[in-house]
Amino acid sequence: MGDGLGGPRASATVTTGELLRLIRDGRATTRADLASLTGLARSTVGQRLDALIAGGLVYEAKKGPSTGGRPPTVLAFNESAGVVLAVDLGATHCRIAVADLNNATLAEVAGDLDIALGPEKVIERVMRRCHELLKLAGRVAADVRGVGLGVPGPVEFASGRPVSPPIMPGWDGVSIPELVRKQFDAPVLVDNDVNIMALGEWWAQLRDDPDILFIKVGTGIGCGIVAGGEIYRGSQGAAGDLGHIQVTDAVDALCRCGNVGCIEAVAGGAAIARQLRTLGYEANTSRDVVKLVRTGNTDAVRLVRTAGRQLGSVLASAVNFFNPSVIVMGGDIAHAHEQLLAGVREVVYQRSLPLATRHLRILRSGLGDRAGVTGAGVMVIERILSSTDVLGGMSGGMTETA
Ligand SMILES: [Zn+2]
Repeated sequence: MGDGLGGPRASATVTTGELLRLIRDGRATTRADLASLTGLARSTVGQRLDALIAGGLVYEAKKGPSTGGRPPTVLAFNESAGVVLAVDLGATHCRIAVADLNNATLAEVAGDLDIALGPEKVIERVMRRCHELLKLAGRVAADVRGVGLGVPGPVEFASGRPVSPPIMPGWDGVSIPELVRKQFDAPVLVDNDVNIMALGEWWAQLRDDPDILFIKVGTGIGCGIVAGGEIYRGSQGAAGDLGHIQVTDAVDALCRCGNVGCIEAVAGGAAIARQLRTLGYEANTSRDVVKLVRTGNTDAVRLVRTAGRQLGSVLASAVNFFNPSVIVMGGDIAHAHEQLLAGVREVVYQRSLPLATRHLRILRSGLGDRAGVTGAGVMVIERILSSTDVLGGMSGGMTETA
């Protein structure tokens, strides 16, 4: 997402998708802008622009009243040239949105959906909702340019297949894109839900901060990394699996991953609920913890604060290692009370190196429940519009000519 495509190196490699980005960002409003920003010859710019205009992605808007002669025009991105579907599947709920190509929501719905019903049933229900939402938005299936989908488990991003997901019985190795493409003939991208939440938060409020960490504290603890303005997945898609960093040898802190002493097993929502049960409270889920914290229960507040400190010590290492400018805290425990953030802040600022924390901000999620669909939309829009084959991707098969 760097700016400045200029220079002789660039001219050979500037794609039509990159030209489109300059128009989408508002950095280029004329053909001359495009030529000077990219170093491409005006004739090349003209050719590619004609293709973008013919493909419906760019139009020439009139600029102000004409003063005689040819009216001045500016290049503008046509965000209505299609729509994307954004789907955020959780363990027991889902949220689905139809968005235009600027990721503005046109229609959205959220409801209960048990991921354990298995891929066929879940995707079928989601697809039915998608068709209903399209109708609400006044669009049809042929308008769908891409589908972005997040699931609550690890995913092999290239193929869109969940990999041994612990809370998604029946989904292991299933090609989610294949199921979706039975309904929509468009690119389908599938990622872990925490990754798309991270991307959503970054896109909505932090685009001037290329490097951020998003931490979700719900039943478990997950982390999404945005590096250089893009999701960082690592070589196998397992990057950011911060919840299973070991913080204690205590044998009672058995983690669902099979190891002992993971941060998730001492500071996640399920772990806090367990600690509350030993104190005699009825607390089985992270929601129960949230309820107790909201009523001002001092044991619950204290345990959440302690969890924040424990998480802070792991995050202090992550800060030294990755040097993000922002850490965003999401998930229901983070939303319940300032205590978790307070605990995190206390330890991170104390334990991280001064240079790494000089400008570090630790914030609460700005999007809450909408982070996932927001990020799913961004993920798929960036893929289809930045692609070297942006026009091929938009019309189903046409290939780009330079
Ligand atoms: Zn673990």
